[in-house]
Amino acid sequence: PKSITVDRVSKTYGNGEEAVHVLDDISISIPEKEFVCILGPSGCGKTTLMKMMDGLVDPSEGEIRIGDTVITEPTPEAALVFQNFELFPWRTTLENVELGLEILGVDKSTRRERAQTWIDRVGLDGFEESYPSELSGGMQQRVGLARALCVDPEVILMDEPFGALDAQTKDKMQTQLLQLWEQEKKTVVFVTHDIRESIFLADRVLVMGTKPSSIVEDIEIPFERP
Ligand code: ADP
Ligand code: ADP
Repeated sequence: PKSITVDRVSKTYGNGEEAVHVLDDISISIPEKEFVCILGPSGCGKTTLMKMMDGLVDPSEGEIRIGDTVITEPTPEAALVFQNFELFPWRTTLENVELGLEILGVDKSTRRERAQTWIDRVGLDGFEESYPSELSGGMQQRVGLARALCVDPEVILMDEPFGALDAQTKDKMQTQLLQLWEQEKKTVVFVTHDIRESIFLADRVLVMGTKPSSIVEDIEIPFERP
């Protein structure tokens, strides 16, 4: 895993009268293997910050680095997990999980093997040939998790990944995510607007204010996890 550095980043969408100043001079330093939650009200720019970490959106000022590399475009070092899962409906569990490896040009037999390993780890063995529409919400997000972890990324970026799930499924997924993370620590940035979730999951919680947003609190969570 690698560290993530957000170095004096500001973001304004649009120009002139249309301009929306979203992020204001944000600096964050996330050591490798840390699990950080970014907490903030809707519209404060959490998704924008996340997309910049993945190279999908350019900062207006400042830069973001993963390790020593300045992020200017999407990189396999960072894997994204989305709120609405973003699975391909016409692909099976196995085919969805293999997708990231396919993009990286990994050969078919290695792909199969690694995808199967992660399908087993997230508890979806037996559902390899199922399509997303045949799976519950929690199971679909476990496919999303397996797809992200399968490429062995340096950092995992999660944008309200459990926001679309019911409370009980959400609790189960949080516990499972922590179990996976304890087994193999990655640098994790997890965006949420749920305070309980952030305290349950994170080593450290960064709180954003309303836009133009900056980090208004940086809180270490001092207790051991259950
Ligand atoms: P959050 O994830 O915290 O809800 P977002 O990053 O999605 O916040 O959005 C922050 C602000 O930036 C919002 O006011 C939103 O309307 C605006 N915004 C996001 N994406 C764009 C875009 N592509 N063009 C213009 N404005 C945008
Ligand atoms: P999750 O909490 O992961 O969303 P559920 O509580 O919905 O899972 O379901 C628990 C178990 O029931 C699953 O692990 C699976 O074995 C089975 N199951 C649930 N929904 C489906 C479905 N749509 N198709 C097949 N099996 C399912």
